[in-house]
Amino acid sequence: MLVKPGTKVALKDFDPADTGPFDSSGKAKEDAREEAKEKLGKLISELEALQNLLYAENKRALLIILQGMDASGKDGTIRKVMSGLNPLGVQVVPFKVPNEEEAEHDFLWRIHKAVPRYGNIGIFNRSHYEDVLVVRVHELVPRKVWKTRYEQINQFEKVLVANNVVVLKFFLHISKGEQRKRLEARLHDPTRYWKFSTKDVAERRFWDAYQEAYEDALTKCSTDWAPWHVVPADHKWYRNLVVAEVVVEALRKLDMHYPEPAEDLSKLVIK
Ligand code: AMP
Ligand code: MG
Repeated sequence: MLVKPGTKVALKDFDPADTGPFDSSGKAKEDAREEAKEKLGKLISELEALQNLLYAENKRALLIILQGMDASGKDGTIRKVMSGLNPLGVQVVPFKVPNEEEAEHDFLWRIHKAVPRYGNIGIFNRSHYEDVLVVRVHELVPRKVWKTRYEQINQFEKVLVANNVVVLKFFLHISKGEQRKRLEARLHDPTRYWKFSTKDVAERRFWDAYQEAYEDALTKCSTDWAPWHVVPADHKWYRNLVVAEVVVEALRKLDMHYPEPAEDLSKLVIK
């Protein structure tokens, strides 16, 4: 759901298990999943065609920002929703704890460098928002420093949008119970051990502080030029569908066209 700029976000008003128009109770759930999957398939095909157009036009870029608690499905969303994209024109950039060089620059330095070039789609797995999330929760910088970052982020994103970068921001909203299930699943599956980090368990203790920090980021940084979307993420199939719908709709709205040939090609014969 789009966060209307200027509204105060309370996450308790958003149900992480929401499945929109789909009935996800009892027997109907299987049908709903099937229907959603079919819809997603169509959207993925359309996304492929729109990406091709974006690439051919080479005039603007699309930046998709994914944020969410550990195990909220950032990786899964990329794997599923972006599965039809041509790798030539897409870059996925994960943002981890800043390295030494990054830490010795302003917080937007590494972010700006990673913005996709025209014609391309960039996907940020975490982003500059970590600088008002983890940094705030753990007081990695003083309050008076992170406080000023919301406005800096808004201005930074405004610069991007003014320069033909479409910015889509998604908060993958999961419940604490669903996070427990997913972390436990990582503990019990040898193919997923690598995804398990004891740090995630430690971070889980700060759940409420994170929810509060997210509420502030969503409230202060949902702007007309770069609004936030809160995505119910307890059900993976619905999460994927919501993200795909927003991405496809944003690209449709660009009203893109294949470039005209620079010269008349109609009489050209290739021997
Ligand atoms: P993962 O997404 O599981 O690979 O974890 C990446 C980790 O890097 C998360 O714990 C993030 O909170 C952390 N991280 C990302 N950006 C920053 C930042 N700017 N400052 C501190 N930690 C960060
Ligand atoms: Mg992790």
